[in-house]
Amino acid sequence: MNKQQHNRAFTAYRCRNCGRLSYPRHERCPSCKHMELEEFEIKKEGILLAYTKVYVTPAGVEDKPLILGIVDLGEGVRALGQILADEPRIGMKLKPAWGVLRRVAGKEYSGFRFVPV
Ligand SMILES: [Zn+2]
Repeated sequence: MNKQQHNRAFTAYRCRNCGRLSYPRHERCPSCKHMELEEFEIKKEGILLAYTKVYVTPAGVEDKPLILGIVDLGEGVRALGQILADEPRIGMKLKPAWGVLRRVAGKEYSGFRFVPV
């Protein structure tokens, strides 16, 4: 992991027309279908709303079970992602962290996971 990746900001998107926030990025605003969305950085911690443990995982996922959860980051932004916690609890505080999600055929695929605060 290089420094640039480590410091990568977790960003959501704001519609320039109606202000609706979304994550991940959509081609158009989910509410008004406007096409101009601006990126903004989410710095705060999130709260775990729900999670599930996945025992049959996609190729290259090394953590079993894979824990997938929905994290409420405030301002209407809810993100689905991997939860790196041995004992996940609904309501626990999490923060985004950049890292490797999968390794397939020697290639690494990175993205945001959520780790306990
Ligand atoms: Zn909109």
